[in-house]
This record gives sequence, structure tokens and C-alpha cells, in this order.
Amino acid sequence: MSCISKNIIAISMCAILHGCAVDNDKRAGTKYSTDQVLIDEYGLALKPSKDMYIEFEGISKAYADTMACMGMIATGPTVEYKSFSFAGLGGAWAFYHPVESTIWINTDEDDMVLKRGSRTDIEALKHEFVHHILHKNGASEESRGHSSPLLIKCGLGVKP
Ligand SMILES: [Zn+2]
Repeated sequence: MSCISKNIIAISMCAILHGCAVDNDKRAGTKYSTDQVLIDEYGLALKPSKDMYIEFEGISKAYADTMACMGMIATGPTVEYKSFSFAGLGGAWAFYHPVESTIWINTDEDDMVLKRGSRTDIEALKHEFVHHILHKNGASEESRGHSSPLLIKCGLGVKP
């Protein structure tokens, strides 16, 4: 039996026996969506998106936190949540396109090693924000090979 199916059984047993404590943070599993473009004070734009585990305010706050952590500022990128399987990009968490200044967050859940949630959304966004802020500050070469200490300090990516 694979590890994953054992886990599923363990979680359902837990739910039957005493109400499950594995995933009892309701807010962490709440999904948000927007059908219009939202723009914050940093110029960060959220395109119409669904299946977001954080609200626009949370995305904006993560961007402000990342700029503060890096000690750098930059006009915000465009953020869009979309299915990567349709785009042919596979099971990645997120992708930054420097020319378009756009960050895509993958809404697919089936191919993911970890359960998506507000934590993985924020960690994926912060990683791509560091790429964007470095790019806007003329350090995209450094960021491309993930050699910048700022990536480790401010946006390591989704932690296992
Ligand atoms: Zn990266």
C-alpha cells in the first residue's frame, strides 16, 4: 500500500473516531475568487482568478512583507491563478514571467506533492515576488540560478 493511501485511511479513521484534528483550520482551506481586476497601492494587479487560498489583501500583504524583507521596492507584478495542466507546465507551484511581469499560481491540486492551502499560496507567491523584485532592480541574472541569498532569506518557496 502506498504512503498516500495509508495517510488517507489514517485521516478518515481520525475523523470517524474523534472529529479530525488534522485539518481543522477552516480558514486555511477557504477558497476565494475575483471576477474583476484588483490593483493595490504598490501597483500589484490580480487578474480574475479562482481557487485562491488567500484573499487579495493577503497577496498584497505578502508583497509588502517581501519588499520589507529584501530592503528593496518595485512596482508590483500581475498575479493570476490558473491551471498549469491546461498550460502544459506540469505540477509546478508557480511561475514568473519577467517580460510580462506576471506571476502565475498553479490551481491544480491532483499533481501536487503537498496539499495546497493558504501556507503554500503565500510561500509560492513570496518566492516569485523575490524573482520579480530582483528583476525590477536589475538583478534578474542572479535570481535566475537561485543563487541570490535574498531568495533564501525572503522567498525560499514552498516548504515540504
Ligand atoms: Zn524560482
